[in-house]
Order: sequence, then C-alpha cells, then structure tokens
Amino acid sequence: MDCIFCKIIAGEIPSFKVHEDDATLAFMDINPLTEGHLLVLPKRHVTGLFDTDEETLTATMAAVRKVALALKGSLGIDSMNLLQANGPWAAQSVPHLHFHLIPRREGDGAGMDWPLKPGDMDAIGKLREKISAAGG
Ligand code: AMP
Repeated sequence: MDCIFCKIIAGEIPSFKVHEDDATLAFMDINPLTEGHLLVLPKRHVTGLFDTDEETLTATMAAVRKVALALKGSLGIDSMNLLQANGPWAAQSVPHLHFHLIPRREGDGAGMDWPLKPGDMDAIGKLREKISAAGG
C-alpha cells in the first residue's frame, strides 16, 4: 500500500518516534505548527474517523492521552489543540487516521480560534433532528 504512514510504521521511512505499542505509534510532525507538534496514529490502516472500528479508535485515544500527558510533563505546557482531519475539504493530506497534538503557548500565533457569530436557530434545530435521526 502506498501510504507514507504505513511505511513509517513498517520502519521503511525514518521518524522521530515518541511512543509505540502493539496498536499505535506516535512521532514528531516534521512540519511543526508549534514546538512539540506530534502525531498519534493506529498501526492499522484506516483512512479516517468514518471508516475506523471502535477498537482501533479506543486504542488510539488511549495513546493520545498518554502522549498528551508526556507533552505536558516534558514541555511544561498547559494548553494543547487536538486536531484530526477527515477528507480533502478538512485539509487531510495523509489518508491514514492520525491525531495532531499541537502544544499551544501564549502569543504563538498558531490560530485555530474563530469569531463567534450566532447561527440561524431554526436551521440549527433542523440539522439537530436530521443528525439525531441518523444515530447521532
Ligand atoms: P493532515 O494534513 O492532517 O493529513 O496532516 C498530515 C501531517 O503529516 C502534516 O502535518 C505533515 O507535516 C505530516 N507529515 C507528512 N509526512 C511526514 C513524515 N514523513 N514524518 C512526520 N510527519 C509527516
């Protein structure tokens, strides 16, 4: 399979590993948004959240928590964004499920805040019904 993260998992491509267990791997992002930016992913190839089985996701989230605590303890941060992209319009560039752990510091300029603009409550209510009826 031509997946760069599968190649890293297989050891065919080097990475700066910070955590590994039977089901997951974590390594430094080589294009860090902030200092300490890293990725946590399952070893099983799934594209994203939509095609992930629960067991794979559960193992990955346990690793996310473990690595987040290691980030906090080692870098002395008290803020972090957890980001996970699904599909091209969400800016997913590598189609292998992964979670970005992005340490945040005062004034780092990394963004990810957006202005709060009240929505149309009728439209929000209709969306809620549609999503809830689909099993949300
Ligand atoms: P996304 O856009 O959410 O799919 O994120 C993919 C991330 O993988 C980007 O932040 C890249 O910098 C990162 N990335 C791509 N190739 C490598 C690599 N060989 N080692 C570490 N990080 C990588």
